[in-house]
Amino acid sequence: MKRSLVAAFVLSAAMTVALAASDKEPPPAGALAGAPPQFTRFSVAELQRGFIALAFGSDLRIGARPLGVRRFDRPIVARVVAGGSVDRTAAMTRIVEEYAGKVPTLNLSLATGDSTDIEIRLIDERDFKAALRDAFGAEVTKTFVARTNPQCMTSVKSSAEGKILHAVSFIIVDKGDRVFFDCAYHELLHAFGLSNHDQRNPWTTLNQNRMVGYLSVYDRALLTLLYDPRMTPGMTAAGARAALPRVIQDLGLGGQGAKP
Ligand SMILES: [Zn+2]
Repeated sequence: MKRSLVAAFVLSAAMTVALAASDKEPPPAGALAGAPPQFTRFSVAELQRGFIALAFGSDLRIGARPLGVRRFDRPIVARVVAGGSVDRTAAMTRIVEEYAGKVPTLNLSLATGDSTDIEIRLIDERDFKAALRDAFGAEVTKTFVARTNPQCMTSVKSSAEGKILHAVSFIIVDKGDRVFFDCAYHELLHAFGLSNHDQRNPWTTLNQNRMVGYLSVYDRALLTLLYDPRMTPGMTAAGARAALPRVIQDLGLGGQGAKP
């Protein structure tokens, strides 16, 4: 009896390994020294799990509980608002361009006129709390800072139907390259609608125990899923769970095809 239990346990451990993310690669060219390696192939279940964890809920919710998926349903215009004691405007602009190029369905471009969907404000750390107070008021800022001790942050306003109306990201520029790049890639994912964190997910930059600092194959896949026309604003978690395997398959993201 005891022996067969051990055998069953070993078998299930072996199966878990067989299903785990594979094709480990070094961080992409241009990533900072010390950036973690990444996996480039994921199972349908691994992508589905990350999507459900990250596209629903958030740390800082004000007002009515959003019912489901939140995303833009129109072309997205981003504006980098220069500021802080270290000039990171060009680096931040390149990151926006990278997202635009690697996830074409975002339909993302840099602002040329007055209208803006995502405002990316570059600031020094000492101005962070004041910036939050300006944006959200003293009470919300106090609660939020006490609860999450944030280093950077993003606020997303969406309609009751789940359409994102406007997002503002605050990115710290004066605490070194690692903090800047980690925040820049991380906060933009929030601004596009991946609102939550998952501290147990080993592949995403939305795990606050990791510092990534580049657009990983995994996060790019989640964003590509979110901006598939079938993942509509307001979609429930149950609806998303039902739709995802097919969408993942059609986009070639599960198993094969997930290449950097
Ligand atoms: Zn975050």
